[in-house]
Amino acid sequence: MKVAVVGAGAMGSLFGALLAEAGNEVWLYDVWLEHVQAINLNGLLIEREGKTRTVAIKATVDPQQIGRAELVIIFVKSSRTNLAAETAQTIAGSDGFVMTLQNGMGNAEVIAGFIKPERILAGTTSHGATLLSPGSIRHAGSGPTTIGAWSQTEDGLQRAGRFAEFLNRAGIKTESVADVRSVVWNKLLINIGINAITALTNIKNGQILDLEISRELSRNAVAEAISVAQAENIEVHDDVMDLVFKVAEATALNRSSMGQDVDNRRQTEIAAINGFIVREAKRLGLQAPVNFALTALVQTLEYHYR
Ligand code: NAD
Repeated sequence: MKVAVVGAGAMGSLFGALLAEAGNEVWLYDVWLEHVQAINLNGLLIEREGKTRTVAIKATVDPQQIGRAELVIIFVKSSRTNLAAETAQTIAGSDGFVMTLQNGMGNAEVIAGFIKPERILAGTTSHGATLLSPGSIRHAGSGPTTIGAWSQTEDGLQRAGRFAEFLNRAGIKTESVADVRSVVWNKLLINIGINAITALTNIKNGQILDLEISRELSRNAVAEAISVAQAENIEVHDDVMDLVFKVAEATALNRSSMGQDVDNRRQTEIAAINGFIVREAKRLGLQAPVNFALTALVQTLEYHYR
């Protein structure tokens, strides 16, 4: 299959490389010239458990060079989804499919402004990756990937099954589901309970568990988000609160992605995570003061980076 990745940072490069290694024709598109040049010159370097391999893969800063692709995977940060979706529309044309495995809510909705919903696949992945330097990433961890058709039709379910098979053939362990919205929501609930708190306090994920008051803050943020999810008829896992703390424990020594963004003075995905809850709560006439405070504090921190 011909695949294009729009946003070839840590995750986009990883998925592109795994698909290229499985024999697909893959193009990486990114606006970061130094990274693209390094990949074209030396290949993409992937560090995994202390060993580094090189993957030959085509990269470009010019989407025209790619032509049409059957599958376009969007892996920009959520604040850039609009621009990426516009590019994806050109690459996918009227026959291609667009997939998002980004974190946060609202990415598929933004993509649907450019691509017909029956051509959009959304989902989540538990793979982890970090950018080391231009042309070089670390594959930090593997885990399941879940995808589903955004249109949630019978046709869509079959299509998602075929794309899941395609990813499985490249060693990306994937299952397809009918109700992908609830999958994306349930991942959002985990991020709501961990990301902003760790980003604001400079702690690692596991340190949320050290103090009752931080656990309470996390629980209160997640409880507000659950109320919004339920008002939107989203099926929330019964044990989601326990799950938040289990994830914090399992990733105890990691800095959350939002924490890393703050450490590197990069724009965070707060608007698509806690900020999304604030906007949805307002629309539904619900209260979300904890998520409002977390969003306002992270945005204040971002504003004063300079
Ligand atoms: P990243 O910052 O490493 O990569 C994003 C890339 O997008 C950058 O290389 C940037 O130059 C590029 N970009 C920005 N604007 C662009 C545009 N208009 N067109 C094309 N490229 C553009 O981010 P990441 O860590 O790979 O995360 C990507 C998404 O995946 C996020 O939503 C993140 O939450 C999610 N995610 C990340 C991980 C992880 O372990 N890193 C795991 C699961 C999900």
